[in-house]
Amino acid sequence: ATPTSIMVGTGRAAELGVLFRKGEALQLLRDAGIVAFDKTGTLTEGKPQLTDLILDEHFEHDEVLALVAALEARSEHPIASAIVAAAEKAGLTLSPVEEFDSDPGHGVVGRVGGRLVKVGSARYLSGLDLSDFDAAVERLSAEGKSPVFAAIDDRPAAAIVVADVLKPTSKAVIAALHEQGLKTAMISGDNRRTAEAIARDLGIDEVRAEVLPADKAAALKTLRQAYRTVAYVGDGINDAPALAEADVGIAVGTGTDAAIESADVVLLGGDLRQVLNAFIISRATLRNIW
Ligand code: ADP
Ligand code: MG
Repeated sequence: ATPTSIMVGTGRAAELGVLFRKGEALQLLRDAGIVAFDKTGTLTEGKPQLTDLILDEHFEHDEVLALVAALEARSEHPIASAIVAAAEKAGLTLSPVEEFDSDPGHGVVGRVGGRLVKVGSARYLSGLDLSDFDAAVERLSAEGKSPVFAAIDDRPAAAIVVADVLKPTSKAVIAALHEQGLKTAMISGDNRRTAEAIARDLGIDEVRAEVLPADKAAALKTLRQAYRTVAYVGDGINDAPALAEADVGIAVGTGTDAAIESADVVLLGGDLRQVLNAFIISRATLRNIW
C-alpha cells in the first residue's frame, strides 16, 4: 500500500471510530492468522452478578456474605463488585476491615471483625479441602458461571458464584471472523470449566484458561508460534502487557489510559463489531480500493 492509501485508510477508519495508532497495524492486521480475545469485559459485559452462594453447613448465609463483602469492598475486581452489590441488596452492614492484602489473579485476604477472611480461586485457597463444593461448582461452571471460594478463620465457608452476560454481538463477530478465514482464541484468568463453557457457546477455536495477568503475554507468544501474526482484543483491565505483546493489540471500549498506551488500535465504544470493521478496513486499504 502507498503512504497515501494508508493515510486514507486510517482516515476512513477514524470516521468509524477505529483509531489506528500506527500505520503498520493496518498491514499486520491483514496478515493475522488468529484473533485472541480477553474474556471479562471484552467478550462479556464485565459486570457479573452473584447467582449462587453455596454454604458449608457450619456457617450462616448473611454472616458469610457480610464478612466477604466487607473485604471485597476494598477490591476493584468485577467479582468483588458483584459480591458487594449482593450484600447491599440484602441490606447487610459491612464491618470495617482491619488488615487487607490483594493478590491479583488470585484473590484477597484480610481481617474483618477479628475474623480472618480469604476469598479467591481454588488455587488461592489450595491448603483447604473444598471437595464438599465440587458437585455444585462443576454444574454451575458448566453453565459458564464463575465460582470463587471463601474461607473464614482457615475453614472453608462457601462457594460464591457469579455470572456475567455475553455482549450481544460477541457470537456473531466470532462467526464473521471465521468466515474471513481467521482462527479465534480466548485467554482468561477464570477457571477452565467456566472458560471452556463460554468459548463453546461462542464457537471460539482455542481456550487458554487460568492464565495469570502476568502470563497473558506468554500465552500470546505460544499462539504466535502456530499462527505467526497474532491480534489480541482486550479492554485493558489486567491485560495491558498482552495488548503490547500482540502483533496487533486492539483495545476495546473502556478507554483506560493503560489500554490506549499499549494498543496499536483503539476502538471507540464497547461494540465488538468494531473489531470486524478494523479487519475489513485493513484489507480494503491494502487492496488499494480507495
Ligand atoms: P479474570 O478477570 O479474567 O477472571 P483475574 O486474573 O483478574 O482474571 O482473576 C483470576 C481469578 O482470581 C478470578 O477468576 C478469581 O477466581 C480470582 N480472583 C481475583 N481477584 C479476586 C477477588 N477480588 N475476589 C475473589 N476472587 C478473585
Ligand atoms: Mg477484561
